Amino acid sequence: MDRRQFIGQGTAALGLLAGFSNPAHANLQKAQILVIGGGYGGATAAKYLRLFSNNTAQVTLIEPNASFVSCPLSNLVVGGSRSLAEITSPYDTLSKRHGVKIIQDSVISIDPDKRIVKLSSGIALPYDKVVVSPGVSLLMDSIEGLASANKAGATLQAWKAGPETVALYKQLAAMRDGGTFAITIPEAPYRCPPAPYERACQVASYLKKYKPKSKVLILDANDDVTSKGALFKKAWADEYPGLIDYRPRNNVIAVDGKTKTLKIEVEEDVRADVLNVLPAMNAGLIAIKTGLANSNGRWVNVNYLNFESTAQKNIHVLGDSIQVAPAMPKSGHMANQQAKVAAAAIVAELNGWEINPTPVVNNACYSFVNATETIHVASVHQYSAVNKTFEPVHGAGGLSTKPSSLEGRYAWGWAHNIWADTLG
Ligand SMILES: Cc1cc2nc3c(=O)[nH]c(=O)nc-3n(C[C@H](O)[C@H](O)[C@H](O)COP(=O)(O)OP(=O)(O)OC[C@H]3O[C@@H](n4cnc5c(N)ncnc54)[C@H](O)[C@@H]3O)c2cc1C
Repeated sequence: MDRRQFIGQGTAALGLLAGFSNPAHANLQKAQILVIGGGYGGATAAKYLRLFSNNTAQVTLIEPNASFVSCPLSNLVVGGSRSLAEITSPYDTLSKRHGVKIIQDSVISIDPDKRIVKLSSGIALPYDKVVVSPGVSLLMDSIEGLASANKAGATLQAWKAGPETVALYKQLAAMRDGGTFAITIPEAPYRCPPAPYERACQVASYLKKYKPKSKVLILDANDDVTSKGALFKKAWADEYPGLIDYRPRNNVIAVDGKTKTLKIEVEEDVRADVLNVLPAMNAGLIAIKTGLANSNGRWVNVNYLNFESTAQKNIHVLGDSIQVAPAMPKSGHMANQQAKVAAAAIVAELNGWEINPTPVVNNACYSFVNATETIHVASVHQYSAVNKTFEPVHGAGGLSTKPSSLEGRYAWGWAHNIWADTLG
């Protein structure tokens, strides 16, 4: 850890570094720490477990993908203004610079009693601590016909950035002028509240330029736009008049892939040319399979001081899979912040030190309304010992007044910074 990184981690790091003279530090060196999932939460946790332990903790990251593809900014790939290569980063700095052992594989089971993780290749790995950050699982069965329509290629989600993101762009590019691109939004909570509305902007931006007789139809199961509502609606009115048709309280219950028809609760059926159907979401599958989803069977309750599951000891869960604190979004920025709190707490615990009793995290979320202009929302969340949860800090954070290309440049700066912080 260099001086700048050390100062950046503040008091948590100060306490941890002092801990290196403590004999309990031996526990840290012996401990096997596994991290499941190399996304925003897991990759950050793996790196910071190494940094906070001064490279003494043994950290293994298990991730099936060969490289990291960012969901943030992936809507620009759907809209055709950017390429997948621009939002893809390698994993190898985590091993070369930080000594994280990386196994390219999927975890198929976690045995909390025996403390063993099994991989799809048949390898079994023992652990002292496991960090689980598997993102979300899409509930394909929550919409009748969706699974088979998806199999036939009649619908796409592109809610995990990668080949599907490019496939959705190709469907948009192949759509006739005068066609309809429909995006459907499940009831909150779902991964990244503003992202569907940003996607609608990116698709509209493409259509305005290349297929101006076409339409974007947003079928939202929620009562209203769930994030940056006034800003999105103004951008739609100013920039895409007549192009975006926003319909709140439109809950899609069935899909017919052959006729490209969406069945909506109470409302008339709708036909569209491209169907981007987002179903309800749960914690990542491995968290569900391990019995960690003890909040309505959908999300994982954690102790917010160290992100340990309340269902199983020594399993720490991060990111989109957790039951978030009030006003805390399911975002990459937040997963990255949670990972640092968890990594500091795990290292402190293994060192025999008290964990930070009042962690603070923040979130910044940029949404592009066209290829270059952006709006943002930011917030700060402080742990309350009284209520045992993170609470938004009033007066901190804020919202853009209007879209601007200056904020568009900040958004790319944010992305490059968080990729470097997570993987670099
Ligand atoms: C279109 C879109 C735009 C977005 N824009 C923003 C934005 O601007 N800003 C922002 O902060 N957030 C944004 N988000 C949200 C952000 O992507 C997520 O909140 C973030 O990725 C959550 O991090 P995570 O670690 O929980 O999951 P992920 O980043 O999805 O990582 C999960 C990882 O776990 C791996 N995995 C899953 N199961 C297993 C297993 N069994 N074994 C091993 N590995 C496994 C997966 O391969 C994956 O790499 C956006 C999301 C979308 C879809």
